[in-house]
Amino acid sequence: MKREQLYSGKAKTIYATDDPDALISEFRNSLTAFNGEKKGEMEKKGYYNSQISKKLFEMLEEKGIRTHFIKMLSDIEMLVRKVEIIKIEVIVRNIAAGSITRKYPIEEGIVFESPVLVFDYKSDEFGDPMLNDDIALTLGLATREEIATIRKLALRINELLVPYLDERGILLPDFKLEFGRINGEIILADEISCDTCRFWDKETKRSMDKDVFRFDKGDISKAYEEVARRIVPEIFE
Ligand code: ADP
Ligand code: UDP
Repeated sequence: MKREQLYSGKAKTIYATDDPDALISEFRNSLTAFNGEKKGEMEKKGYYNSQISKKLFEMLEEKGIRTHFIKMLSDIEMLVRKVEIIKIEVIVRNIAAGSITRKYPIEEGIVFESPVLVFDYKSDEFGDPMLNDDIALTLGLATREEIATIRKLALRINELLVPYLDERGILLPDFKLEFGRINGEIILADEISCDTCRFWDKETKRSMDKDVFRFDKGDISKAYEEVARRIVPEIFE
């Protein structure tokens, strides 16, 4: 049963449950970008993102990746295993887009020969600065072994997501993952959705993700719905 609210973030609200090892993650309709500077709302955003996340977590579980997903309790409420979040935003890049094209002489759309892994410090206060292993270790964010495990898991998840999405006409330029500790193990947590991935239409390279909101690229509602139609067609039947 849903108990007290533990945390309300930029896109989700986390509630306790009767089970001390489980939480409810409620996907809201609020949209934020640029570290909270740009704010908005989109009807059904929580619904589409939670359904997309659910489907991708299930696919990954089937392929042997441990995730926090337990089950859906409603259209927007996901029951998850409670983890101790590792404060590293793990970003996997396949095609150049976003900050990497602003910070380095790398043109948007360049396809990387092998995936580029970037770690950012998950901290609104410090604006999510990029980490290297030494800084992550110094900050006590993770151990050397944990960092190695996270790298391996992130690359494996990428290997599974890219062909799965490609079959559905979606390119995956980049995405962000969060991992957590539970009983000495590291599992995938948080979400995999239009808010945390760049999804491009395979044919037109059109954005179908939060970039539509970030850069006013068109109808965000249509973009998220289109991704949902391709990944979770069953919810439209
Ligand atoms: P933010 O904190 O970045 O604004 P959200 O609005 O998505 O993000 O809030 C969800 C919060 O819940 C995040 O801080 C995320 O790290 C955390 N979280 C995600 N999955 C779990 C989990 N299984 N156990 C504990 N915390 C989690
Ligand atoms: N991302 C995210 N949360 C963040 C930062 C980035 O989910 O706090 C995702 C973002 O949606 C994109 C990828 O991580 O899919 C890479 O983002 P980037 O570093 O290019 O930052 P941005 O261009 O979004 O500022």
